Amino acid sequence: MQLAPALSVVVPCYNEQEVLPEFHDRLVPVMEAIGRSWEVVYVNDGSRDTTLSVMTGLAAADPRVAVLNLSRNFGKEIALTAGLDHARGSEGVVIIDADLQDPPEVIPELVEAAGEGHDVAYAQRSARHGEGLLKRATAHAFYRVMQRLGGKVQLPQDTGDFRYMSRRALDALLKLREQHRFMKGLFAWVGFPSIAVPYERAPRAAGESKWNYWKLWNLSLEGITSFTVGPLKIATYLGLATAFFAGLYLLQLVVRTIFFGNPTAGYPSLMAVVLFLGGVQLMTLGIIGEYLGRIFNETKGRPLYLVERHLPSSADREVSRRPAA
Ligand code: UDP
Ligand code: MG
Repeated sequence: MQLAPALSVVVPCYNEQEVLPEFHDRLVPVMEAIGRSWEVVYVNDGSRDTTLSVMTGLAAADPRVAVLNLSRNFGKEIALTAGLDHARGSEGVVIIDADLQDPPEVIPELVEAAGEGHDVAYAQRSARHGEGLLKRATAHAFYRVMQRLGGKVQLPQDTGDFRYMSRRALDALLKLREQHRFMKGLFAWVGFPSIAVPYERAPRAAGESKWNYWKLWNLSLEGITSFTVGPLKIATYLGLATAFFAGLYLLQLVVRTIFFGNPTAGYPSLMAVVLFLGGVQLMTLGIIGEYLGRIFNETKGRPLYLVERHLPSSADREVSRRPAA
C-alpha cells in the first residue's frame, strides 16, 4: 500500500455532468503547481444525470481521482461529510464546490495562507457575481441573525464551505456526527487558528443552482436550530410579555368596573386577545416542535449516509482492475 497523499480535495457533486470535466481540467494544473502529492475525492450525491460515469471516466484516466458514490441524494452537507470521511490527505483537505463558483485557482493561496501557523484557511467572498440583490440581502440578514444568536461561537461572514483544513482540524470536525449538519456552524465550533483569504465568487459555470428560496429558508432554520437554543427563549419572553400586558389589562378592567360600572362591551377586544394568545401559543409550539424533531432524528442514531461504491485514489487501487463505468 502506497503512502497517503498529502492533500485531498473533496468535491460534493449533484447533477454536475456539464461542469465536472471542466472543473477537473482546471483543478489538475493548480494542484500540480502546489508540488505536493494529492488526490481529489469526487462524491456523487445521488445525481440523476450521468455525473457518476463522468467521475468514473475521470478516475479511469487519472489515478489521483477517488470516486465515492452515495446510495441516494443526501444533500450537500452530508455528501461533503462523506467525502471528508474518505479523504486520505495526511496534511489536510480542501473543500470546494464543483460548479466553479469557487475558483480552483484560489486553492494554492489557501494552502499557503494556512502555512505553518494556521489550521484553517477559509475563502471569504469579496464579490458575488451572478447573484441577485435579493439573494445577497437575504444572505446578509442571515449572517446578522446568526451573529446575534450564536453566542460564543461566531460565524465568519460571507464564507462558504470553500476552505483548507489541516488534518487535526478535520479529525476534530469528523468527531461531530450529528444528523442535522449545518457545516458553517460545525466549522466554527471546531475553532483552531484560522485565517481568511478574500476571493471573488464567480457565477456558476454551467448547470443550475440546487438552491431556491424555500431551501435557503430551511437551511437558515437548520442553521439556527442546530446551532443555538435562542429561539426557545422567545417562547419564555413572549409568554412573560403577554402575561404582563394581560395583567395590566385586567387591572384596568377592575378599576373601570368599580368606578364606571360594567356596560358589557368588549366582545372585539376579547376576540383580539384570544386570537393573539392562540397565535403566540401555536408559534412557540412550532419552535419547540423544530427542536423536538431534531432530537427525534438524532435519537434514531442512523448512519449519516450509505455508500454504494467507493473507488479510492491510486494508492489502494490496481489500474487494471477498475470497474467499468
Ligand atoms: N450539491 C450536492 N448535493 C445536493 C446539492 C448540491 O452535493 O443535494 C453540491 C453541488 O453539486 C455543488 C455544491 O453542492 O458542487 C453547491 O451546490 P450549488 O452550486 O447548487 O449551491 P450554491 O452555490 O447555489 O449555494
Ligand atoms: Mg454553486
